[in-house]
Amino acid sequence: MIDLQRRFVLLDRDGVLVMDSGYPHTPEDYELLPGAVEGARQLSESGWRLAIISNQSGIGRGIFSMEDFQLFHNRLLSDLARAGVPIAGTFICPHEPQLGCDCRKPAPGLIFRVESELHARLQESIIIGDKTTDIEAGRRAGCLGGILLGGGRSIPNLMAAAEMITQGEVPYF
Ligand SMILES: [Mg+2]
Ligand SMILES: [Zn+2]
Repeated sequence: MIDLQRRFVLLDRDGVLVMDSGYPHTPEDYELLPGAVEGARQLSESGWRLAIISNQSGIGRGIFSMEDFQLFHNRLLSDLARAGVPIAGTFICPHEPQLGCDCRKPAPGLIFRVESELHARLQESIIIGDKTTDIEAGRRAGCLGGILLGGGRSIPNLMAAAEMITQGEVPYF
């Protein structure tokens, strides 16, 4: 039986919810992507819990601070909340790639934190990202499936992905 409390859509942030201008972190960088809020709302209203999993190596590289990250990210969370979309949790990898940490996607560490901290049932959960490394992280973590957005693909944005999921058309691993 499917436990809706444990079924998640795991959202990459930059390139899925907000424009990925390259380490977006300033107020000027902040731009919601078309279909992002609407897609997140459709998923939430269809009974999916949402978590954000995001590589933020700009912190480890010294490009921006954790405070910069929080200010930028809080704006996103409040825009989503205002639209009636709760985010159950945000999990970031702040490390620079050379550190070889176990949380920078395509490593599955962030997804395992959603499992341990929010009790996600990964085999019923879906990952959505704009890079193949996002999808690979979901595959390595044992998720149900993954949806790759953008880049001229047939799934241009989160709204299109949400429609696929709510119609049961998930690309399974
Ligand atoms: Mg991305
Ligand atoms: Zn990391």
